[in-house]
Amino acid sequence: NIQVKSDIEIARDSKMKPIVDIAASIGLDADDIELFGKYKAKLSSEALAKLKTKESGKVVLVTAINPTPAGEGKSTVTVGLADALNKLGKKTMIAMREPSLGPTMGIKGGATGGGFAQVLPMEDINLHFTGDLHAITTANNALAALIDNHLQQGNKLNIDQRRIVWKRALDLNDRALRKVIVGLGGPMQGVPREDGFDITVASEIMAVLCLASDLKDLKLRLSKMVVAYNYDKQPVTVGDLGIEGALTLLLKEAVKPNLVQTIEHTPALIHGGPFANIAHGCNSVIATEAASKLADFVVTEAGFGADLGAEKFLNIKARTAGIDPSAVVIVATIRALKMHGGMKKTELVNEDVKALRDGFTNLKKHVETIASFGLPYVVAINRFITDTELETNTLKEMCEDAGIPVALTEVWEKGGDGGVELAERLLDVIEKSENTFAHLYDLSDSLEDKIKTIATQVYGADGVEFSPKAKKQLVDFDGFGWGLLPVCMAKTQYSLSDDPQKLGRPSGFTITVRELKPSVGAGFIVALTGEVMTMPGLPKLPAALNMDVDEEGNAVGLF
Ligand code: ADP
Repeated sequence: NIQVKSDIEIARDSKMKPIVDIAASIGLDADDIELFGKYKAKLSSEALAKLKTKESGKVVLVTAINPTPAGEGKSTVTVGLADALNKLGKKTMIAMREPSLGPTMGIKGGATGGGFAQVLPMEDINLHFTGDLHAITTANNALAALIDNHLQQGNKLNIDQRRIVWKRALDLNDRALRKVIVGLGGPMQGVPREDGFDITVASEIMAVLCLASDLKDLKLRLSKMVVAYNYDKQPVTVGDLGIEGALTLLLKEAVKPNLVQTIEHTPALIHGGPFANIAHGCNSVIATEAASKLADFVVTEAGFGADLGAEKFLNIKARTAGIDPSAVVIVATIRALKMHGGMKKTELVNEDVKALRDGFTNLKKHVETIASFGLPYVVAINRFITDTELETNTLKEMCEDAGIPVALTEVWEKGGDGGVELAERLLDVIEKSENTFAHLYDLSDSLEDKIKTIATQVYGADGVEFSPKAKKQLVDFDGFGWGLLPVCMAKTQYSLSDDPQKLGRPSGFTITVRELKPSVGAGFIVALTGEVMTMPGLPKLPAALNMDVDEEGNAVGLF
């Protein structure tokens, strides 16, 4: 048993530079940033406008194999890789998602990297940060309140209160709020109806904020959000209610990206964090774009495995924002591959080359997917101290035998120094490999065909089955003019299939699309497969039980 310092202890022992110095290192002066204390700042609107005309640097996407409870370390590798690129003299920035408070209170494990590859100040970033998530929660609930008020004040838009699809939101895991009844108590207390809460990161407003290119585009997207259907079964939008201006006003600060630093002082923009199932799972377009103008390299990540996060980054975000990625890093751990090969989590400390070999199929599929987008890639083996040399060598060999560029990373243990091999490998593939990046489907393909393309090419499914409800929606959505939007698949993250139990590389399966959901403001149609959780619950022993604050105001027990 090796004793290691916790993430928060390492973070506490690190000395941050004032954020004005970090800003200066990327050519931003006092007018370009708005300070939130000494170590956090937002980029000003003027700075963002100024950057738009600059040339873009190279964008590197970090993705992973299908996650397992053993952990993969995408954020950790994202941070460590950027630190390593800076060490090699490449001017590099990070663009990452902001963690949601709900899971922070629930499951142990932060979203700001780990070990010596972390962004700071980690306790602020993991808690209220600069208030963006609260602003999104407020905008979401202002809209909900205005819908209910519309019903109360005569319902001019003829909204069918049984068909209101806009839910309330809260940035907490609170299963008791999944389904609620509002408006009870008589005529002065509103119109009674069934309602529910989603976690803030599942709110369409989060996805809208993350895909908007600027304030003007934000307002346009907000106005297109569908909140309900009327008694003629036609969609009712925010624009119909006339409140896109108010919602945009509530978000005018939240739309500016937040500048922080890594332990090794690499500048990082942390901004937005939509769910990777019901939404597209990437930080904001504004942050990725700004970072690409401020640095020569941007390392950014997408949620869950390459079947969800990377597919959506490449088919939705990159298309919307006009991003041409230079390469993809696919993170794998030996522990997770052993689980894909059939090992139980409790047995992972034991060496097992057979399980590793069996689980390799999962990594192989994700590599094939990234290759099918025409992108150069490198596999990053995120080393855990429990991995044996035989296992590490076996995985490296399997990659090399299959012609897959691979590098071992030890950024968790060593920071940027542990990522130099990966950074060098990455620079090499960017320079030498052909990049023929293309989206997997055209927007002019039918919604049905887009879903089929993703299911067969990315998941390896034989085909797609649509429920009677989904079939009817395909027709209706075409009628509403939504057929040209990209598709955002909501699927379990644990498996390439829609069954979380099927690990490795399942074959001979079909994907069942249960229902479609319009996110017209965000600009995609969600295809729901299986049960998708939009308001998580807390576990039996929530992480909150370990949390405290000392008398000086320092966080204790936060990871
Ligand atoms: P992801 O982004 O894939 O969800 P993270 O980078 O957030 O994963 O890592 C999840 C957790 O695993 C963090 O608490 C981090 O400290 C830990 N972790 C990541 N890589 C390693 C490693 N190589 N050794 C030990 N712990 C690690």
